[in-house]
Amino acid sequence: MQKTTDNPKNIERLSNLLSANKRLAIFTGAGISTESGIPDFRSPGGIWTKMAPIEFQDFLDSEEMRRESWRRKFEVDKTIRRARPNEGHYAVAELVNSQKATAVITQNIDNLHQESGIDPDRVIELHGNGTYAKCLNCGAREELEIIKQAFLGRDELPVCKFCGGHIKTATISFGQSMPEEPVRRAHEEALACDLLLVIGSSLVVYPAADIPMIAKRNGATLVILNREPTPLDSYADLVISEEIGEILPPAIKNN
Ligand code: NAD
Repeated sequence: MQKTTDNPKNIERLSNLLSANKRLAIFTGAGISTESGIPDFRSPGGIWTKMAPIEFQDFLDSEEMRRESWRRKFEVDKTIRRARPNEGHYAVAELVNSQKATAVITQNIDNLHQESGIDPDRVIELHGNGTYAKCLNCGAREELEIIKQAFLGRDELPVCKFCGGHIKTATISFGQSMPEEPVRRAHEEALACDLLLVIGSSLVVYPAADIPMIAKRNGATLVILNREPTPLDSYADLVISEEIGEILPPAIKNN
């Protein structure tokens, strides 16, 4: 494993790997969106350092937890809805839109890959999307603005107008099953690629963090671009412990 913090050399190494490999898979985490002003979970000051996550079963079992979940959602959205894609997102978009990568596999729920100009069909969301809500029973989509008005204005919890089921943001909580189709597609990408690039993930949330190792075990080169160490660093062919915005945009220039 090659690990270095020498900026120009890392840009060149990553650029060379991108040129040398035919099929690229990209796997992103909350770290790619911090430069857009969205805090990640585990960095100092990150979301988990301020409040414990609400488990899926608690959401189902308790009206108070559902209320707390919606209170948090509309509080956090004050930041998230203002965020715009940054240079890292645009670099990923260039790799996908130029067909270097067929898709981006993301743990993020912020919709910024789509907003950076990637066709939504090419964004594989392992943990769902936080810009809308869904009925947990029948899957009907509900828009957040309608829920927000009823919840903040009249203290009403959202229930499905078709079946009466609980409505929750279209994200995957701890304890909730992973969405089958995105997981299937992510595995397919990992098995088909010859280079997998991890960008801004602590690689501690499973089963999402299995994806890089599936690629590695299948013979792909593994690169991790993350400012802090991850548990998979020792398996990686190249670890770049630097800021995404400083490395990724210049590294893709010649690709
Ligand atoms: P994480 O918070 O566990 O890890 C993020 C990693 O990115 C950290 O190791 C941090 O050191 C690194 N990082 C942060 N900013 C960076 C930068 N500018 N350059 C380089 N590295 C940087 O996030 P995760 O691995 O994605 O996993 C946790 C869960 O977080 C996922 O399930 C995801 O759904 C959720 N999440 C998503 C968002 C979002 O959609 N933007 C935000 C917070 C959490």
